[in-house]
Amino acid sequence: MFMSGLETATRSLIEEHQLARLQLGLERIRTMNRFYDEKLFQNGRLSKLERLTDLHNLPFTNKRELVADQAAHPLFGSNLTYPLGEYVRLHQTSGTTGHPLKILDTQESWDWWAECWTSIYRAAGASKNDIVYLAFGFGPFIGFWSAYEGAKRLGALTIPGGGMDSVQRLRAMQEIGATVLVCTPSYALRLAEVAQENGMDIQNSAVRVTIHAGEPGASIPATRERIEQAWNAKTYDHTGMTEMGAFGFACSQQNGVHINESEFIAEILDIRTGQPVAEGETGELILTNLGRWGSPAIRYRTGDLVRHGGYNCPCGRTLLHLPGGILGRADDMLIVRGVNVYPSALADVLHRFPGVAEYKVIVTREGAMDEIALQVECPSAMISEIQEELHIALNLRIPIEAVALGTLPRFELKAKRVEDRRNRR
Ligand SMILES: [Zn+2]
Repeated sequence: MFMSGLETATRSLIEEHQLARLQLGLERIRTMNRFYDEKLFQNGRLSKLERLTDLHNLPFTNKRELVADQAAHPLFGSNLTYPLGEYVRLHQTSGTTGHPLKILDTQESWDWWAECWTSIYRAAGASKNDIVYLAFGFGPFIGFWSAYEGAKRLGALTIPGGGMDSVQRLRAMQEIGATVLVCTPSYALRLAEVAQENGMDIQNSAVRVTIHAGEPGASIPATRERIEQAWNAKTYDHTGMTEMGAFGFACSQQNGVHINESEFIAEILDIRTGQPVAEGETGELILTNLGRWGSPAIRYRTGDLVRHGGYNCPCGRTLLHLPGGILGRADDMLIVRGVNVYPSALADVLHRFPGVAEYKVIVTREGAMDEIALQVECPSAMISEIQEELHIALNLRIPIEAVALGTLPRFELKAKRVEDRRNRR
């Protein structure tokens, strides 16, 4: 396992590095980046950032604001530090939570993305001797393009699996002897299902590591275990955002993720008070990137809930640890009969049952109260056992309907297992 110097550095050294990077970056975007010049510097708001804690006085950036800015300044908005000719990549957000955002990268910031990804591969124990297979359609979503660039930068043989169906991808991996699989957690399970349907033996394939992005599954213990068993491989989570970068990676402990603090500054703020949370507490993750100065994101509200896990991981890294990775979206949390329910907590229970193939969460509103029900692809005899486990985990009795195998949708990217019927009449 390779660790760069800062991964095991003292807090003061990490913070010194972050401050220096941030100061240099702010100097660059000042006057050149219209969006942040107005937001941070105009009217004497900020002259120079003297201490890292001064960052807490700067305004947040949120997605709504960036979307509005792109609408006001088509096509790409005003969060651009350089003339358009300097930009070499265009990606966009999935648009699952609103209007898609178009994000441009310069060659410099694209190289930075690739470098961030090498930390993910190295922490998962991958090296230049690996053969990395990317089971993904390679659309406008940035995650897998950056994973591809990162694998190349690592020096590994890198294979894009775009434009293929699942059987073709499985055959290609087998033929080439892929050792690392990169895809969403849902799709890793889908591939395993297809392998089984087609009598293909992935348990004895060369794949020894799977790395996941796009959804939080690989940090949910039961989901991770299911992927590991299906593939007979070690499974690692990674967290990233189109607007931000590839900011987190799982280490040998496979317990949530570390923030890559040499390239990002993380704050975890209490949702009600906006104050930094103490170790062990949960809040919204706010991030600032330190290497994407062509289209930066400063104090970006990710909308993701995380737990502050301190700085002493058994792996040896001193980087901020987030146990459980991303626990859910701040706006995904459901309150059912007074109990906070995250979709990830449901996944953790359902994936403990080998007989459960897919599931769907249906949210309804009864008066002022949210209610949930589940549709689960499983034998109906299993339902009472699942209900019992859910009751133990969540202290809730949840109605479950068993549905036939193969009736619920399968996903390659951004699984949508929650159907919100609250606003229907
Ligand atoms: Zn660790």
